Amino acid sequence: MAVKQVEFYKHNLEQEDIEQLMAVLNSTFLTTGPVTADFEQRFGEYTGMPHVIATNSCTSAMHLALEALGIGPGDEVITTPMTFVATALAIRHTGAHPVFVDVEPETGLMDVSKIEAAITPRTKAILPVHLYGCMVDMRGVFAVAAEHGLRIVEDAAHCVEGARDGVRPGQLSDAVCYSFYATKNLACGEGGAVAVHDPALAQRIRCARLHGMSSDAAARYKTPYRHWDVQTPGWKANMDSIHAALLVKQIDRLDDNLVKRQALADRYREKLAVIPGISLPRERGKNACHLQTVWVSAEQRDWMLHYLQEQGVACTVNYRAVHTLDYFQKTYHHKPEDFPIAHDIGLRTITLPLYPKLTEEEQDYVIDVLTTAQRALSLEESPQGQLQSV
Ligand SMILES: *Cc1c(COP(=O)(O)O)cnc(C)c1O
Repeated sequence: MAVKQVEFYKHNLEQEDIEQLMAVLNSTFLTTGPVTADFEQRFGEYTGMPHVIATNSCTSAMHLALEALGIGPGDEVITTPMTFVATALAIRHTGAHPVFVDVEPETGLMDVSKIEAAITPRTKAILPVHLYGCMVDMRGVFAVAAEHGLRIVEDAAHCVEGARDGVRPGQLSDAVCYSFYATKNLACGEGGAVAVHDPALAQRIRCARLHGMSSDAAARYKTPYRHWDVQTPGWKANMDSIHAALLVKQIDRLDDNLVKRQALADRYREKLAVIPGISLPRERGKNACHLQTVWVSAEQRDWMLHYLQEQGVACTVNYRAVHTLDYFQKTYHHKPEDFPIAHDIGLRTITLPLYPKLTEEEQDYVIDVLTTAQRALSLEESPQGQLQSV
């Protein structure tokens, strides 16, 4: 138990990324331009998606995609309560309402068999979330969407690299959204992207990410000056060259970093399996290994979270179910038991450190701390009484 401090995440930026950034800083052009376009091109090659539009976040990527698909006030979009709140808020930003369906108990993923019962005449789209790194059954989602004439927008914030049943994120949907937020597998601080198949949809999103203007700053920079116009009111959600510079070379290292996380995830799986009272979500398809969550008992979760922190292990909760958050309870009159499986998982989740720079020594320390915590809890009836005595 020598290690005393384990970070929750360490980024993977290297010298070559810093050089890309310096090249932008030494140029005159900081906002959206050729470097952003270069990133979009390379990311499209990696993901196999023909049109990529880089944005300032995944939240705005989802908002722009939904809006460009014609979703607006009064419409309903079916999604999962076991996700980051941004998924449901992006739906709200269009004026539509999120309609939740419960999740599978073994994986935490949206239960595709429950979608049909949630469809109403106002339903316009399905927004599945690929949780922790594992994909939703997209063939199943596609079948329901096709039968009911619904759009599909995917939240792939956790799943750039994953696949399932021969399908990758985006392949069967209208749009797929990614996040490059500080702790994601591909990270630049703040950033996102939406990828689509339809060139007309790509054009609408590209225009909407920059006020709805008919030309961007890079085009306006050229001579002779051309006047721009606005046909529809857009948003301010473009990715600048500074953030794009940090991403271009990282794409080439995604697969190597995945191999490192896979090895760590396998080690967690093997070593945590023997600790009583701790279970892990079941994997589905090729896991992008974004988050290592463990499920403990609801009564002991907060105590364990605090204990891990006290011992220097940074950890968090991904996620408490969205429908139990105050705004959603009040606005939609949801009760926690409306989606009991997501609620239960939300009460039992702890997310452990998982990133390429995590050493086996640090990981063993995390596992030792968990083992000690679990042993202490099994000796006492009341976990609350344990805080002082451990
Ligand atoms: C991080 C995350 C988002 C939001 O991404 P931003 O880029 O911060 O807007 C959305 N959905 C999920 C599942 C996430 O983990």
